[in-house]
Amino acid sequence: MRAKNGKVSTRAVIDRQDFQQLFDHLSAQGYQLVGPRLRDNAIVYDELSAVTDLPIGYVDEQEKGSYRLTKTAQPTLFGYGLGPQSWKKYLFPPVVRLWQAQRHNGGFDVIPEDHEPRLLALIGVRPCELKAIAIQDRVFMGGAYADPIYQAQREQLFIVAVNCGKAGATCFCTSMDAGPRAASGYDLALTEILEANRHIFLVDAGSEKGEAVLRTIPQRPATDLDIAAGERIIAQTAEQMGRVLDTNRIKEMLYANYEHARWDQVAARCLMCGNCTQVCPTCFCTTVEDVTDLSAATAERRRVWDTCFSLDFSYIVGGSVRASPKARYRQWMMHKLATWIDQFGSSGCVGCGRCITWCPVGIDITEEARAIRSDSEDKRFTPATGGRKHEHA
Ligand code: SF4
Ligand code: SF4
Repeated sequence: MRAKNGKVSTRAVIDRQDFQQLFDHLSAQGYQLVGPRLRDNAIVYDELSAVTDLPIGYVDEQEKGSYRLTKTAQPTLFGYGLGPQSWKKYLFPPVVRLWQAQRHNGGFDVIPEDHEPRLLALIGVRPCELKAIAIQDRVFMGGAYADPIYQAQREQLFIVAVNCGKAGATCFCTSMDAGPRAASGYDLALTEILEANRHIFLVDAGSEKGEAVLRTIPQRPATDLDIAAGERIIAQTAEQMGRVLDTNRIKEMLYANYEHARWDQVAARCLMCGNCTQVCPTCFCTTVEDVTDLSAATAERRRVWDTCFSLDFSYIVGGSVRASPKARYRQWMMHKLATWIDQFGSSGCVGCGRCITWCPVGIDITEEARAIRSDSEDKRFTPATGGRKHEHA
């Protein structure tokens, strides 16, 4: 029996026909909903107002350098995997104006920027993306100086996670302990169950805020059968995982292979385009630009996403520290899988697979790590130990 405004168990079921009420309730609380939408033949994150804005029935196929969407007859709301964008665009926007200056009476006035955060409800956050947000939390807020723009926006989120019902061919979240089940960091977590005679969402409340929202929408306690159906979906997804990364002593393995011949081989293929860093949900490098208008009456300073693949990124006192493509690719991959662990206490990779899908020449971080490990001069790191064990959270 469905209860309205009644006590909610931590596991509840929302029927598909009631799902719009979740949107309506969050909107009524002042949240702007953002989530997956179809644009330019890809799933992107943008503003939502109704459940019908979601890419209903779409599924994707992903491989190295390849992404294709197909519309099916299935009415799934979340049947697709990750698109090129991650949630970092809301917490850590690609371009942020830091201040403006305007000419005035022979001098100029500096106008500080007001970075007013928005109440945002993120709809459809995948488990690996929750982990990526937790990693960026450490980067932007875990040190002595918190990034005020990130921190202010981070405090204004309501997160609706969705457990994955299908793994993409480029996914390896199981290797990184990042999925396919949402572990923490959400207000509500959904598992979509579509069977011959029912379409429901199994819901876990992960916070008091989530539980309060759940209480306001039609729902019923989950039965053992509902829970078993949800567990089956997550277990099947884990079994389908497209790729594996052996993370056993990966930091030590990479440090021991700093001059491995594979770095030259991958650098010969790499276009240095930086796509992999733009799509990565944890990459956080920026630069600062000063820009004037044509009349030079106003100027502004902006923080913009940068990439360790650009020559300019490591430019200091007359030259670039990482002048060769080999040095730049190695910097990126070593940071993700090795030096990030020393810097922040965890890997910088959550196994989302975006850098593999969106690399125009199909460079695959799991393949590169495997090639280095299998041909490591230091035999302590070979052979691989089954691929799914790792020592770093
Ligand atoms: S390195 Fe690649 S697979 Fe890992 S989190 Fe970044 S984009 Fe995803
Ligand atoms: S690895 Fe691929 S996506 Fe990344 S810079 Fe090289 S060519 Fe571009």
